[in-house]
Amino acid sequence: MNTQSMKLIFLGPPGAGKGTISKMVTERLGLPQISTGDMFRAAVKEKTELGLKVQSILAAGGLVPDELTIAIVKERLSWPDVRQSYILDGFPRTIAQADALAEFSELDAAVDFEVKDDLILFRLTGRRVCRSCGAIYHMVTKPPKVEGVCDICGGELYVRNDDKEETVKARLSAYHLETEPLIGYYNKKNVLLTIDGSPDAETVYNAFISKIGHFLKK
Ligand code: ADP
Ligand code: ADP
Ligand code: ZN
Repeated sequence: MNTQSMKLIFLGPPGAGKGTISKMVTERLGLPQISTGDMFRAAVKEKTELGLKVQSILAAGGLVPDELTIAIVKERLSWPDVRQSYILDGFPRTIAQADALAEFSELDAAVDFEVKDDLILFRLTGRRVCRSCGAIYHMVTKPPKVEGVCDICGGELYVRNDDKEETVKARLSAYHLETEPLIGYYNKKNVLLTIDGSPDAETVYNAFISKIGHFLKK
């Protein structure tokens, strides 16, 4: 597979495993991951101008306005490390974002990870994230060796404040309303690849690798 030139977006509801699979692809194949969620959380943590604007939106489980989101992605995509390849994890999330992306970058595939709503709540309420390196764990499906401590860097694991049940419900309704229409959008452009996101992560990763390999050969 030619990973030198592979521009992908990862679609799917919150908790579908987009971050987990992107990180596996980054580690194993070297594709750079761009996560808008990580960028917004970093801005909130550093209390930048952007962070102050988006803090309450993230906490409520809503979507950041398109204008702001498009601007940070456009800027990030101008860096040299993503000239040939990238995974956009969590962008686009609206039709307006997808239209904007089409103006400044060409895609090889839009990968949709399918997971039903009932599994999502289990995944998100058990999610733990490393404060230092961003590694993703789950209390049941991917527990760290020592509770509360990152296996990779020894950093502290925390619960995202938007992973509580009420906020998850708001995020899911935003997903169904604003983001799900992108499946049809990319299907029409013949770049859609659907992956069952419900089995274990290694199985999902292998399905992704095999499908993307066939897809890019076409
Ligand atoms: P998850 O991985 O659970 O789907 P993310 O880390 O991708 O969540 O996103 C966290 C939050 O950041 C979202 O709930 C939303 O408020 C904001 N966000 C991330 N990406 C976008 C985007 N493309 N458009 C608007 N808001 C976004
Ligand atoms: P997203 O980025 O789509 O919001 P994450 O990759 O952060 O999703 O995964 C959400 C939670 O589910 C995390 O706790 C992660 O460890 C767990 N998880 C991800 N993929 C799987 C999988 N295939 N099987 C079981 N648990 C998973
Ligand atoms: Zn860590």
